[in-house]
Amino acid sequence: MNTVVSFPQVGDTEGKMEYYSTNHISAAADLKTAVLKGMPDDKGLYMPDDIPQMPPRFFENIHKLGFHEIATAVVLTLLGEDMPANELIRIVDESLNFVIPLVRLDDKRYILELFHGPTLAFKDVGARFMARLMGYYSKDSGRTLTVLVATSGDTGSAVADAFKGVEGIRVVLLYPSGMVSSLQERQLSTQGSNIHALEVQGSFDDCQRLVKTAFGDTELNEHLQLTSANSINIARLIPQSFYYFFAYARLKAEAVNTVPLIAVPSGNLGNLTAGLIAKRMGLPVKRFIAACNRNDSLTRYLKSGKYEPEATIPTISNAMDVGDPSNFARIRELYGHAVDFLRQDVFSASFDDTATREMMRKIFHSCGYVLDPHGAVGLCALEAYRQQDPETPCICLETAHPAKFYDTVRETLGTAPDIPEMLQEVMKKEKRATLLTAAYAEFRRFLLEKLP
Ligand SMILES: *Cc1c(COP(=O)(O)O)cnc(C)c1O
Repeated sequence: MNTVVSFPQVGDTEGKMEYYSTNHISAAADLKTAVLKGMPDDKGLYMPDDIPQMPPRFFENIHKLGFHEIATAVVLTLLGEDMPANELIRIVDESLNFVIPLVRLDDKRYILELFHGPTLAFKDVGARFMARLMGYYSKDSGRTLTVLVATSGDTGSAVADAFKGVEGIRVVLLYPSGMVSSLQERQLSTQGSNIHALEVQGSFDDCQRLVKTAFGDTELNEHLQLTSANSINIARLIPQSFYYFFAYARLKAEAVNTVPLIAVPSGNLGNLTAGLIAKRMGLPVKRFIAACNRNDSLTRYLKSGKYEPEATIPTISNAMDVGDPSNFARIRELYGHAVDFLRQDVFSASFDDTATREMMRKIFHSCGYVLDPHGAVGLCALEAYRQQDPETPCICLETAHPAKFYDTVRETLGTAPDIPEMLQEVMKKEKRATLLTAAYAEFRRFLLEKLP
């Protein structure tokens, strides 16, 4: 990536970035503390205290840049004062080593395919970047970091893959025996090297309890440096802003030179928050369309101005089934708790499974494009907004590969989605997991005595 190194603009950050807690009780932290701790003691979320601007000339020439050049310019602007540039560039190169195509649906509509990473979902972007940032800081401290993760399936496979081979870190994954799909179990248990899978004879709640007890075990923490791979870690959010700039660049390269609408299939609102940060850095976006399934706390908040989270409802777009999204706290901070201000940048709408399936069929029959259920919710919300604004070009993020939701896609479209080779390969590998009971003493002994 030699073109990247000579890239001149490093934004206008002055001094190190500080990360404050959205609960405003714990003290602000530097990047290293924010990344290794994940969550401040007051249980808020870390948020950058100042969001730097990209220089205007960056946007003038952005259509001539590739993904890595764009990501490098943005990461140096955000984190350039906190870490050496060559380390940041290495982390970008290693973590974002897959394509992110912008696919044209028709005259005005484009799809940004974020699912070409190793576990076929956009969460690879955040997880891979976070893993390498943690690896950098643990090497820096000279102590091996042990990451504990309780998983009911999907998060675990993205995390297992993201941390594989990262120096200075070992990962212990706990999953409930017999309760994850066979594909997920293979993804969790076939990584080898620094990834250790524990098959727990109990429920997902048992796995979570074991992890929580370990974090609270003072004596254990004297022997091992433990951390979690939390989904609200700031290191997962930062790289998600890169592809918004890239999507704009690709659109501009097609000579579609207007400020676009961007639809985001939303659950815990991390992806939307990253987009809003990109906009704050100067990215031209007319509006974000926050697409929700029946878990519609954000949609209702934008309508009424009141935040009233509700219990989670299961849907076919299950990675978006979040009744009380964590990143709502970050969005509120970005907009100074002013709902009117947020409404200028974000429109939100919510759709049920019937509407989601109808959209999958409609796009398949009209454009020949196979959407997964999450991307389909995105298009539903986009189309709702386009009734008042049909001329603006728009980009819908597609967050998962349709093969990850094989049965739903097949049922809905009457044809099966293609299964990528990566998924077929993993099914051929041999499972390697340690079987444990749900007793804490046994888990503790494993960590202290058996963990290589
Ligand atoms: C996690 C996830 C989402 C929701 O993203 P958030 O950042 O939590 O809003 C959407 N689609 C897929 C496939 C996901 O895995």
